[in-house]
Amino acid sequence: MCAIEAGKRGRRVAVLERADQLGKKILISGGGRCNFTNLHCRAENFLSGNPHFAKSLLARYTPEDFIALVEKHHIPYHEKTLGQLFCDRSARDIVEMLKKECSSTGVTIFLNTKIQDVKRTTEFVVHTANAEFYAPALVVATGGLSIPKMGATAFGYELARQFGLKIREPWPALVPLVLSADDRSRYCDLTGVSAEVIASCHGQQFREKMLVTHRGLSGPAILQISSYWKKPQEIQIDLAPGIEMTKNLRDPKMPRTLTAVRSEFRKILPARLADRWLDLHAPASWTNTALADLEQQAHAWTIVPSGTEGYEKAEVTAGGVDTDELFAKTMESRKVHGLFFIGEVVDVTGQLGGFNFQWAWASGAAAGRAL
Ligand SMILES: Cc1cc2nc3c(=O)[nH]c(=O)nc-3n(C[C@H](O)[C@H](O)[C@H](O)COP(=O)(O)OP(=O)(O)OC[C@H]3O[C@@H](n4cnc5c(N)ncnc54)[C@H](O)[C@@H]3O)c2cc1C
Repeated sequence: MCAIEAGKRGRRVAVLERADQLGKKILISGGGRCNFTNLHCRAENFLSGNPHFAKSLLARYTPEDFIALVEKHHIPYHEKTLGQLFCDRSARDIVEMLKKECSSTGVTIFLNTKIQDVKRTTEFVVHTANAEFYAPALVVATGGLSIPKMGATAFGYELARQFGLKIREPWPALVPLVLSADDRSRYCDLTGVSAEVIASCHGQQFREKMLVTHRGLSGPAILQISSYWKKPQEIQIDLAPGIEMTKNLRDPKMPRTLTAVRSEFRKILPARLADRWLDLHAPASWTNTALADLEQQAHAWTIVPSGTEGYEKAEVTAGGVDTDELFAKTMESRKVHGLFFIGEVVDVTGQLGGFNFQWAWASGAAAGRAL
């Protein structure tokens, strides 16, 4: 996106990509259909040391701008849920679109070109295994640490440090959570069971699906909350958002027995999860207070994860180049003239739902327009 915008302005642009093809993460994104933006993109959908940093930049390159590009290329797409836009056919459509835009704006792409180091003399000197590139401006768009088997490295952060820019310590985000050994033995044989919940932590909450995995919890609600979670905090899970589970049990005609409670919980939750959760949280008695206590626990089931599945499974890396180091309008370093950082390498991280790509497009466009 950055190269395209700079190319449109007549700049001579070289994209140096170490992989053998462009946009590998785009290709695997959104289950192969690329959730390329979100109609409801707001600054609140992003995590950053400075929550205001991205506001004006996101306003200058909006989801509508990207949709216009997608429509110009006649790419069919649909809204899946919650404003999330996906390709009808394949994520490949987005990569092909970006490639076409690059070639029509005269951008040269070098594949299999791993940057080894960068020096700055009167201009930037970029060394690869068998070439040197000289340029008055350098844009670092090397992504984060997620999915190391696809070649993710800390190169972008190292480059920032080399030029004296501060880094906000990265952490894996949008990542499944791992339960403690005790909780694993309690719940993880329910692998594959899912329920709509509200997961909350640190003042944030998300109402979406939760999924039990063989090592812990996942699903959109958990991935979302994982970005805000730090060890050893607890996470609260509302197993029945907006529903009073024990309401019928207050009816004097209704027997107050475990079988009756089970049948009430099974109306709301998958049977196996309802049964297991009740086995582990059976009320001590059948008084109104005990029922109220059960109700309260079901809406605030407290879990203390032992960790996350880490960068191997994280959809994105939070933290990164400190936004204090960059001009919010252009993404240029305040300290080093001509040095820009865009996309995931920067300390702006989107929630699940197309926000990370929207940030990548918007920050790329901002830098491209300033080059
Ligand atoms: C499984 C998965 C699914 C996802 N799905 C979605 C989704 O549906 N919607 C969404 O919004 N976000 C999604 N994301 C997140 C999104 O893919 C990223 O936030 C986005 O790709 C970041 O873009 P970027 O250009 O900053 O970095 P990247 O896309 O990671 O690109 C960085 C590029 O830099 C290259 N590079 C790194 N080091 C060097 C070097 N030394 N020399 C040369 N080249 C180098 C890499 O090879 C890579 O191609 C998903 C992520 C994953 C892992």
